[in-house]
Amino acid sequence: MLEKFFNPRAVAVIGASRKEGKVGYSLIKNLMDEGFGGPIYPVNPNTNEILGKRCYPNVAALPDGVDLAVVVIPAKLVPRTIEECGRKGIGAAIVISAGFKEIGETGRELEQQLFNAAIGSGVRVLGPNCLGLINTQSKLNASFAAQYPENGDISVISQSGALCASMLDWAVRNHIGFSKLISIGNKVDIDEETLIEALSEDPHTKVIVGYLEDIVNGPHFMRTAERVTKQKPIMLIKAGTTEAGSKAASSHTGSIAGAQMAYQCAFRRSGILQAPSLEALFDYAQIFSYQPLLKGKRIAVVTNAGGPGIMAADAVENSGLLFASISAATKTKLHSFLPAAANVANPIDILGDAPAEVYGKTVEVILDEEGVDGVIVLLTPQAMIDVEEAARQIVKATSGREKPVVASFIGADRVSKGITILQKNRLPHYPTPERAVEALFTLSEYVKWLERPRRVIHRYAVNTTKVDRVIRLSQKRGHLNMGEQESKDILSAYGFAIPQSRLARTADESVSAASVIGYPVVMKIVSPDIIHKSDVGGVKVGLTGPAPVRDSFELMMMRVHERLPAARLQGVLIQEMITEGREIIVGMTRDPQFGPMLMFGLGGIYVEVLRDVSFQLAPITADEALEMLVGTKTYRLLQGVRGEKSVDMQLVAECIQRISQLAMDFPQIEEMDINPLKISAEGASAVAVDARIRISQTSSPL
Ligand code: ADP
Ligand code: MG
Repeated sequence: MLEKFFNPRAVAVIGASRKEGKVGYSLIKNLMDEGFGGPIYPVNPNTNEILGKRCYPNVAALPDGVDLAVVVIPAKLVPRTIEECGRKGIGAAIVISAGFKEIGETGRELEQQLFNAAIGSGVRVLGPNCLGLINTQSKLNASFAAQYPENGDISVISQSGALCASMLDWAVRNHIGFSKLISIGNKVDIDEETLIEALSEDPHTKVIVGYLEDIVNGPHFMRTAERVTKQKPIMLIKAGTTEAGSKAASSHTGSIAGAQMAYQCAFRRSGILQAPSLEALFDYAQIFSYQPLLKGKRIAVVTNAGGPGIMAADAVENSGLLFASISAATKTKLHSFLPAAANVANPIDILGDAPAEVYGKTVEVILDEEGVDGVIVLLTPQAMIDVEEAARQIVKATSGREKPVVASFIGADRVSKGITILQKNRLPHYPTPERAVEALFTLSEYVKWLERPRRVIHRYAVNTTKVDRVIRLSQKRGHLNMGEQESKDILSAYGFAIPQSRLARTADESVSAASVIGYPVVMKIVSPDIIHKSDVGGVKVGLTGPAPVRDSFELMMMRVHERLPAARLQGVLIQEMITEGREIIVGMTRDPQFGPMLMFGLGGIYVEVLRDVSFQLAPITADEALEMLVGTKTYRLLQGVRGEKSVDMQLVAECIQRISQLAMDFPQIEEMDINPLKISAEGASAVAVDARIRISQTSSPL
């Protein structure tokens, strides 16, 4: 796949130039400089020779056997040239030229022509508007980048050409080797998915790293990524471009979730590690490239200073990794060569005056310890230490081991040479203990992905017929924003408990409804024009007798009318008051690209303010639903604080799974919230106190 791009027999540069400073010149020079083995043919009708190479007037005049054309001519000439390449039997083209869809309407038309030319001629096209590609295995530098990386097993895909240059600069400085670097530009033909697939089959690529701004076909990309991440790790930065449409959300879930959140969910579901920054991207890439996978979570810290040791220990515990405990046998071994004042418990402090060899010995002994799965080595440049020798000793102690080791030499000038030694020997170095921990954690996340059990989606027995009826009826009436009652009809068909309620149109009716339900009661305004009832004074809780009910009715009608004179008021709902339980929100919004996204979090009227929420794509497994809980602070509240009882987490997870099932069963549901869903620790009940569902106009495809 894409062999002609990565290992062409011969390369032609169409639009080659003899003027230094021109892209057409850099391309020829770059190709020649790195020692690419095959012939390089410049194409330019106005010259005979460039950099000592014979120049050809046009594509037709080229010798046979060219696999790859690098095209750097004015945009309007590109489509025709691609057709010529096709006729010449050139199977691959990198279009460096800009001036396509990135410049607006005329460019978009040209890009369409380029697309047609690529399809019609059978030539695969990378770009346009890209920096080119580098393959260090074949010493192919088909780019106009100013730098060339060392050989390595990290392959990089970037949607930004400028960032390719930054990444190269950075990789060169930090001795990070690349296998391939591919600038994808406008992706008229070859896109991120094609490349990820090609790289998954590439024996020289161990880690796939990418910077993406958009993804052509989200669900399809996810399926490919899921397959590839089982073989090799993919880590991506998804740059925040504009949110997909600014659809007006009528639910809490819809207003909080955005396209970025959907990508995050999709990446997680397909095993892609998402990096929050370029720095993190390469932090992760290095550990995956250089080190074996983490088999367990127990981390030991070796240090020559107490403070950084504690920083690392804190970071380990905050990250979800475990702080290893050191066995008595290992402690004895350490004592045999460490000074008496050294700390042989984790973090292992070999003391500030420890010589370089002691670093090596200590790391070796710690790697032998069965209770340790990974090691962080910290060094502060204290007076006595030979930093470079320490680096060499650490490298020696770790080479060929099956446990990952990372280092953090904390400082600047005094540690820099030591760091270079680590980097050249493929021992990941991080400027801070926290970043070292983060990298190890990412390794453990990937292992968790590899080992995850098969996904099983539980199906609950529900009443789909009833839901179908409610939806059809609402569509017929044009009630796309369903009120509390209709929403609850749907939820009760999916197994949710609902508080008893009755509609009342007058104060008298309210009082008699309350006496049937039993005090205390809640009163809520009923209007098709009001989405958030509390906002307009349309909710009154804790009404304890007929008099407060009566007063409340009058007051509510007046107040709501004052605030929203145009709203149609149909009366009030008198509702059983659910006194027990903690308030959570469970909701769903449908992302245009990735489908239903589920939300869990702290419920009540402050959802948007506190935003203590987590998301996952539906359909969801029981484990994933539990993961959603654990990701929030609300989880701690549900566990019970200050002597409160914990609620039944399985029950909460079940509620999320039921919403997931509802969202999958009824694509007409655009968004919904249960807010609050009251979870009681005592009776282990989940009651949908308030609910909102928005449906689409199109009738059921079921
Ligand atoms: P809205 O979200 O439209 O403002 P809700 O029905 O969610 O209206 O009511 C607002 C708040 O009132 C809820 O978050 C909850 O704290 C409380 N509440 C509403 N109904 C009940 C009920 N039946 N039992 C107990 N508390 C309730
Ligand atoms: Mg509510």
